[in-house]
Amino acid sequence: MRAQDETPPVTGVSRLLIDGRLVGTSSTFGSVNPATGEVFAEAPDATAAEAEAAIAAARRAFDTTDWATDKDFRVRCLRQFHDALVEHKEELRELTIADVGAPRVLTYGAQLEEPIGLVRYYADLLAGHPLTEELGESEVRGQKHRRWVELEAAGVVGAIIAYNYPNQLALAKLAPSLAAGCTVVLKGAPDTPLVTLALGELIARYTDIPPGVVNVLSSSGSEVGELLTTHPDVDVVTFTGSTATGRKIMAAASGTVKRVFLELGGKSAMVLLDDADFATCAQFAAFTVCSHAGQGCGITSRLLVPREKHDEIVAMVAAVFPHITVGDPASPDNYMGPLISAKQQAKVDGLVRRAVDAGAKLVAGGESSGPGFFYSPTLLANVDPDSEIAQEEVFGPVLAVIPYEDEDDAVRIANNSIYGLSGAVQSASDERAIAVARRIRTGTLSINGGNYFAPDSPFGGYKQSGIGREMGVPGLEEFMERKTMAVVVK
Ligand code: NAD
Repeated sequence: MRAQDETPPVTGVSRLLIDGRLVGTSSTFGSVNPATGEVFAEAPDATAAEAEAAIAAARRAFDTTDWATDKDFRVRCLRQFHDALVEHKEELRELTIADVGAPRVLTYGAQLEEPIGLVRYYADLLAGHPLTEELGESEVRGQKHRRWVELEAAGVVGAIIAYNYPNQLALAKLAPSLAAGCTVVLKGAPDTPLVTLALGELIARYTDIPPGVVNVLSSSGSEVGELLTTHPDVDVVTFTGSTATGRKIMAAASGTVKRVFLELGGKSAMVLLDDADFATCAQFAAFTVCSHAGQGCGITSRLLVPREKHDEIVAMVAAVFPHITVGDPASPDNYMGPLISAKQQAKVDGLVRRAVDAGAKLVAGGESSGPGFFYSPTLLANVDPDSEIAQEEVFGPVLAVIPYEDEDDAVRIANNSIYGLSGAVQSASDERAIAVARRIRTGTLSINGGNYFAPDSPFGGYKQSGIGREMGVPGLEEFMERKTMAVVVK
């Protein structure tokens, strides 16, 4: 492992990581703490030339070093990276709270500690993976042939991430792509660049990962991301972000026929069947939609309820909202913090206003407040399943309650979406809930509160929620090619 210096990595001046060197740039942009609305640190604004240098370094590291073929070395490097993350966890926690506005409570889960576990998971998975599959012998024209498949690194990866869970999104791409033997250019989100840069700094200072294998960029605009999706030296694009950007990336990557791996938006439904425990479900639904102020791709933002129970359930959810503590995300007492930006605050508010104009009933919330970009937990009742608020991803703490007639109608409404990321079904009977869940076209589903989110569990979407699966064994194989070989048996 390289020499460690004393400077804490995440509180120093943020730098890009290009070809093993931490570099500053002539131009920077401010990163705003969403809880205060104030710029709290500067991030480097990478140019196209710096992105070119990063891609060239990744290409050279892939083509001219044994990174892709030395499995034991990769396992060792991933373990070093895991240890560095654990060692610097508290600094990363404070940075994540300031950069993302993530409530402290979430940093013990998906905002920080769970993603650190992903790095260990992929180190262990690689250590035990044979990277080959025997197909056995076949007989063709009187000769026997032994066939097998070797799993190889897919090449240079361009990784582009969304703002909302930067540790999770970066590590769910970095850990498996490095385990697979790829080299990577990772671009952080303009709203939360500092967390991503800190990961690069840990790699540069505390691991033996060779120069060029990991490069980390930040930029205020989309030019650097666009370059990653069109550059002939990038083999794979892995992207997490909105469906609108995902469509552009898929089109841009087609010119060079890159492999494209997309984790996109969602508009997931929680279905309460008529035998569910409504009071418990009301709590679950309210706290879920307010998690990270609703800025989660898999959040159930539609609550589907039996029509005859609609008013009763709406009253139960409304009674839970005052118990959701909103405020400074640094305080362990607050369940919910701010939205990421004034732009997001205005977008959420516009969607709520238009929902009311379209006939939904505003039961609670619907208020912006500052300083910072806060939005109150919001409950909309009697929502039309075809209306904008039921179809568009809000990415705010807004729950749309939609009445249904019967089980078939509930399934139809749940599937009435361009998205297919996640969902939940609640019933007194696990079997009944599972049967309904099987009819919902989404990549993940929670049955009666079951938690599907873990390093070994594939995560991803159907329909316009994406292509491919992150995490688990499929998350590794997204970054591998299969080479099928055969020899004549003598
Ligand atoms: P976004 O699409 O605005 O931006 C995502 C990233 O793409 C950013 O880094 C941005 O700079 C970059 N980008 C923008 N235009 C680009 C282009 N033309 N070419 C290449 N890169 C470009 O998304 P966001 O607002 O940061 O994040 C919110 C979205 O992310 C939501 O839709 C949410 O559902 C989705 N998301 C999905 C998952 C998942 O696992 N499915 C997880 C988290 C967030």
